[in-house]
Amino acid sequence: MFDEYDKVAKTPIEYLKGVGPSRGALLRSELGIASFGDLLFHFPFRYVDRSKFYQISEISQAPGEVQIKGKLILLNEVVGQKNSRRLVGKFSDGQQNIDLIWFKSVANIKKILKVNTAYILYGKPQLYNGAWNIVHPELEPLETATKSEFGTLFPVYSSTEKLTAKGLNGKGIARLFRALLPHFKGVIPENLPSEIIEVLRLVPRSEALFQVHFPRDSKSLQRARFRLKYEEFFFIQLGMVRQKRINQTQIKGNVIARVGERFNAFYQNHLPFELTGAQKRVVKEIRKDMGSGAQMNRLLQGDVGSGKTMVALLSMLLVIDEGFQACLMAPTEILARQHFLGLSELLDPMGLRVELLTGSTPQSQRKILHEDLSSGELPIIVGTHALLEEKVKFANLGLAVIDEQHRFGVAQRARLWKKNTIPPHILVMTATPIPRTLAMSLYGDLDISVIDELPPGRKPIQTLHYLENKRLALNGFLKQQISEGRQVYIVYPLIQESAKQDYQDLVSGFESITRAFPEPDYHVSVVHGNLSAQEKEAEMQAFVKGQTQIMVATTVIEVGVNVPNASVMVIESAERFGLSQLHQLRGRVGRGASQSFCILMTGYRLGEEARTRMETMVRTNDGFEISEVDLRLRGPGEMTGTQQSGSLQFKIADLVKDGGILSQARADAIRLLQRDAELRSPENAPTREFYLRYCKYNQSWSRIS
Ligand code: ADP
Ligand code: MG
Repeated sequence: MFDEYDKVAKTPIEYLKGVGPSRGALLRSELGIASFGDLLFHFPFRYVDRSKFYQISEISQAPGEVQIKGKLILLNEVVGQKNSRRLVGKFSDGQQNIDLIWFKSVANIKKILKVNTAYILYGKPQLYNGAWNIVHPELEPLETATKSEFGTLFPVYSSTEKLTAKGLNGKGIARLFRALLPHFKGVIPENLPSEIIEVLRLVPRSEALFQVHFPRDSKSLQRARFRLKYEEFFFIQLGMVRQKRINQTQIKGNVIARVGERFNAFYQNHLPFELTGAQKRVVKEIRKDMGSGAQMNRLLQGDVGSGKTMVALLSMLLVIDEGFQACLMAPTEILARQHFLGLSELLDPMGLRVELLTGSTPQSQRKILHEDLSSGELPIIVGTHALLEEKVKFANLGLAVIDEQHRFGVAQRARLWKKNTIPPHILVMTATPIPRTLAMSLYGDLDISVIDELPPGRKPIQTLHYLENKRLALNGFLKQQISEGRQVYIVYPLIQESAKQDYQDLVSGFESITRAFPEPDYHVSVVHGNLSAQEKEAEMQAFVKGQTQIMVATTVIEVGVNVPNASVMVIESAERFGLSQLHQLRGRVGRGASQSFCILMTGYRLGEEARTRMETMVRTNDGFEISEVDLRLRGPGEMTGTQQSGSLQFKIADLVKDGGILSQARADAIRLLQRDAELRSPENAPTREFYLRYCKYNQSWSRIS
């Protein structure tokens, strides 16, 4: 069914009328368009409403680009400094004139345009010295424009400078579609089950792909775009839901049937606090998963400080009671060490051994750990990526907990699976909450638990945004907090590209802090990337033990550090941090019983986005809300740690705007697979075939054929 389509779609782009070898090579290298099919999926990124014409007098009310009907009344080449050439023109709409300017392709444009001829002018007016002008406008002779077979909505395609030089600007690419689309007439098969098409009243696939390029009107454009967005989400979700079903039905997991003695002993005698309702609920969910006979693949979301670590610990005890081992993997050495210390403190009294394995574990110690893991002697190990090494073998790994998931990729998760013949249960804990749409797209193959409740007695952190003129007041405030026995973090940004400058900022900051907070009344720790692991550790420990009152640091303390006595987090140059980072940093305080503060120091001039970030931080402590704003501001690809993921690269769908379509597509994919897990029924054949042919990112699907 798709063979005929493939024959057309796979035709090399050179063979398209109007392309040829040299443009073809450019389309490949500039836009990755190698075939007819690639071009078909090069969608317009916006549309110009051809039915709307502006008068020059109305320009100030126009949204951006305008379209004006009129006459070119003047065209002159001007030679400027250093022999630079430009072309200046005047365009009249019958009432007023507007200046036109070209800096590039001057000779070419001069040849093409004719004075005293009627054109449709298109471009973005700018105010220059009090008058409107348009730089590099497009002019189309009125005669051909009115004969155009395009509808009233004209597609605008992305192009590049090199392509433009070869005559393929946005409009040139639009022209290619006139040649392209006829090849696809009658060969684009449907790929969605007819029931979904009927219920959602989707336009057929072929119509959507034609209408998206040359829409009849805005209504059919909207329907075409909806259909294509839905389809894009649907097939990704189909793969994820499918994967999840395979995990649950085909991948055997070790059965953790009962609650054993270590768990009970810990729960009754060593638990330092009452679990929150949310923690209890999540532990129950995990128990159910691990007892089901299938492998658990669960994502645990919870705001900073919501107590994910305790959930991890209880889960580890469950598997240890059944004779398995457990590991906890963290993204940084500091965080791994912190977890190790925390777990040891809780488990030592029970006589349960925990060890730490990181990149800086000495060789001799490493050897012992390797042996004790492979003999099964060592029940719990905490570590970094070092745990993934080939040499690390477990006698019987029952559970792998991964903290701060966003720094580990799917491939790394998979490497943990291989540590046992029956793959271990996997519990992934995110550092910061992520929006639902993003969770569905990134972790749609996992089950998701949410801790939506903070431990009791926490006072919400008060967040303030200060400018430099409050510096003295800030120092006074810090002194007052310190005099009450509290401790303070002062964090400086560290951004790789300018690491040297950042380091200098930190050093000069450190100097002014030690001037403002002199010995012997005050003691200051400093931690940054240029220190050795031991030096860092010594500085951290001085702060943890309360020997120093101020910790000056780069973002190395971003994750994990736990000093309940710290009550103030000062973030310097806060405008240089992303929202989730700011929220993470703020989460370092507010862990004790006293009122805590987060002070965001910024320069006077802030861009709009930075301002939104500061306002959001001041307004709310809710990590889920913050992550929604973050997604809106930065887009899915840029959010902390969500790396380039195939499931986040969309041709037409938009995770920020199209969350509703995504939820619908996921629900439909679930329903479809519930009824027909293998998509064997004839009415699902096109969907199955499409999936097998074109959705390559899912390896597991190949297992079902
Ligand atoms: P995160 O979810 O950010 O990893 P942690 O697990 O580090 O949070 O927990 C934050 C702090 O809250 C720790 O000091 C921990 O001991 C404490 N904590 C966790 N659960 C509870 C609870 N139910 N009651 C009181 N304190 C708790
Ligand atoms: Mg944590």
